[in-house]
Amino acid sequence: MAVRDDAEALAPELVRLRRAIHREPEIGLHLPGTQRKVLAALEGLPLEISLGSALSSVTAVLRGAGADGGPVVLLRGDMDALPVTERTGLDFASQTEGVMHACGHDLHTAMLAGAARLLAARQHELPGTVVFMFQPGEEGHAGARLMISEGVLDAAGQRPAAAFALHVASAEWPARVCSTRPGPMLAAAEVLEVTVQGHGGHGSQPHLAADPIPVACEMVTALQTLVTRRFDVFDPVVITVGSFHAGTTDNVIPDEANFLATVRTFSPGARDRLRTSALALLGGIADAHGVTVSAGFHDGYPVTVNDDAETRFATRVAADLLGEERCVAQPSPLTGAEDFSFVLEQVPGAYLMLGACPLGADPASAPNNHAADAVFDDSVLGIGAALYAELALRPPGRSLTERAQRDRPETPSPGRSRRDRRLEPPRDAVFVAS
Ligand SMILES: [Zn+2]
Ligand SMILES: [Zn+2]
Repeated sequence: MAVRDDAEALAPELVRLRRAIHREPEIGLHLPGTQRKVLAALEGLPLEISLGSALSSVTAVLRGAGADGGPVVLLRGDMDALPVTERTGLDFASQTEGVMHACGHDLHTAMLAGAARLLAARQHELPGTVVFMFQPGEEGHAGARLMISEGVLDAAGQRPAAAFALHVASAEWPARVCSTRPGPMLAAAEVLEVTVQGHGGHGSQPHLAADPIPVACEMVTALQTLVTRRFDVFDPVVITVGSFHAGTTDNVIPDEANFLATVRTFSPGARDRLRTSALALLGGIADAHGVTVSAGFHDGYPVTVNDDAETRFATRVAADLLGEERCVAQPSPLTGAEDFSFVLEQVPGAYLMLGACPLGADPASAPNNHAADAVFDDSVLGIGAALYAELALRPPGRSLTERAQRDRPETPSPGRSRRDRRLEPPRDAVFVAS
C-alpha cells in the first residue's frame, strides 16, 4: 500500500495521540508528560532512542536496509505549548489553566510519531537512516540549539544529508495546503539592549553633569536612520525600540538611561552587518557626547533559510501527496522566527507550512496561531505523517524525476479536483509562527 493509504489508516490513532497531548499541554524545555506519550507511541518500533539531559527531548534513530553508507534524513517535530488560556470550547481542550497548544505543536508531535510508525513498517525499503527529532522548547527557549549541543545531528553516526520540519497553521491557508519558499522562510529575531552611562546632577546645571537622556534619544533616532541609509530596502531590517527608561523626576539628571529594541532581519548578511554597524553607531554617539555606552545583542533565533534544492524536492513530494494545486509558493518570508533555523544553519533542508484551518472556517478570518481560540483540524494528521515519511523515504541524491515517480498517487477523484480548483493562492499576509 502507498504511504498515504497507510497514513490514513493510522489517522484515528494519531488523532487520539494529538488530543491526549492537547489535553495536557506543557511549556518550555521540560515536558515530562508529553515525553511519556511520545515514548508510548514509539513503543515496540525498531528505534534507537535517546533522551535529552537539559531538556525532555526524544531522539529516535531508524536504520533502513541500506543504512550503511545511505543518507541520513532528519525530521523535526516540536512538542511545547504556550502560556495561553484556551477558549476553543473543544471537548479535548486544555485541562491546564493558562497553558494551551495554541501553535499546533501537538499536531507536529503526533504526525512525527505517525511517520516513525510508517517508516518502521518500511524499514526494508529505507535507503538510509532517519533521525526523528522530538523537540521541546521551540517557543522562545531555543530547544533545537540545546538538542544540537546534546548531539542530535550526530545521533545516527553521520551528519544528516537533509532536514525537514512541518508547521501547521490554523488560518491563512485552507486545510491540506502546503506552502514554502526557497531561501529566507522566517525572520531572525534578536533583542538589542543598551545602557547609556552618564553622570547625574541638578537639572538646572546640565553643564556640570553628563546627561544620558538626550544621548539615548539621539541613539533611538539614529538607529532608524541606520536602517534606511545603510540597508537594502529589498533585504529588510526592522528595529523597534519598545522600552525606554531613565530618571525619576523633572529636576534630577539621572546617571543612566536604558532601552530595549527588537531587531528583525531576513538574511544572515543583514543580521551580521546590523550587529556590527549598530554597535559602532552607538559607540560613536556616546563618544561624541562624552558618555559611555554598553550595548549588546541577546542571541535570538537566526534567519530560517530553506535550501533551494531541498525545497524543490520537498515541494515535489508535497505536490505528489496533496495535488499540485494544494502546493503553493510562498511569496515572502514569514515575520515569525523559528529555532529550526539552528538546524538549517548546519544541514540543508526545508521548513514547510501545512494548512490546518478547520473545514467550514474561512482561512482569511479564522483565529491565527497563538490565539486562545485557534483551532487546528485533526484531519491533516494522516497526510502530515505521510509527508514527513515520504521526505525520508525518497532520499537525497536521487533524481527528482525518480523520486517524483515513486509512489505517485492515483489520479485524484473528480470531487477533489473540483475543490482544488476553488483554492486561491495565499495572501501576502504572514503571521508570527513563533
Ligand atoms: Zn510553532
Ligand atoms: Zn508558535
